[in-house]
Amino acid sequence: MRQNDATEAFLKSLPELKNGQTFRFGCGPGVSCFNACCGDLNLSLTPYDVLRLRRALAMNSADLVHGFTQVSTERVTGFPFVHLRMLDNAKRSCPFVRPEGCSVYQDRPGACRTYPLGRASKAGPFGSLEERFFIVREAHCRGFEQGREWTSGTWLKDQGLKEYSESNDRFIKLVSRWKTKKRPLDAKQANMVFLALYQADDFQRFIRDMGLFKRLILSAERQRLILDQEEACLEFAFDWLELVLSGQSEKLAHL
Ligand code: SF4
Ligand code: SF4
Repeated sequence: MRQNDATEAFLKSLPELKNGQTFRFGCGPGVSCFNACCGDLNLSLTPYDVLRLRRALAMNSADLVHGFTQVSTERVTGFPFVHLRMLDNAKRSCPFVRPEGCSVYQDRPGACRTYPLGRASKAGPFGSLEERFFIVREAHCRGFEQGREWTSGTWLKDQGLKEYSESNDRFIKLVSRWKTKKRPLDAKQANMVFLALYQADDFQRFIRDMGLFKRLILSAERQRLILDQEEACLEFAFDWLELVLSGQSEKLAHL
């Protein structure tokens, strides 16, 4: 089974948290299982996760990718997927866990923020996106025995997931759109996708060196933002990849 299908199948095997339903949960340094969930993980990193982690660690993207991740290629679409590499110790610990907790807490990946929920989303008709939530109840986690009641909405808000979900949804739409072509990206396209989505600092250099803006309709203000802010650059990367891979983008056009 492919990685993404396996993740989706795993989520759908769990109890669903329907809209408006609640679950009780609390977590913090006082719990007896503190840090028990920060190891032995198959943790996918989205392009936005990589951007936030890179910034938290003050590393360039190439060093982050080589130092902390594994990259796989999705068989059907040929899209590159990035996973956080666990340490080679008995617990297969996350490289960022410390006795006092997560050392990148403010910039922790979306999956860590979502836990103990799992989010499954897929592209729906007319550009919509359908999302569902599932409760991941693991035996070692004592969080369900304490805390307050949450809906999926209040939990996601509390965990600061808005930007993560918005960016991830664009990624899902990009991959879903390409999937309809029923062929994998070629090597050149896959390299371009990787550069644009996971290496915002290098992509900004590429934009400058290749004079990419000269061939696109883009306001001077947006050009400035793309080269100054990595979030704006990632947003542009999604638009640009839509344009070059499928020939059209809602927010970007060739001159
Ligand atoms: S990034 Fe932080 S929260 Fe996520 S698994 Fe690692 S230590 Fe835990
Ligand atoms: S309560 Fe659950 S989420 Fe919190 S530290 Fe323990 S295992 Fe991790």
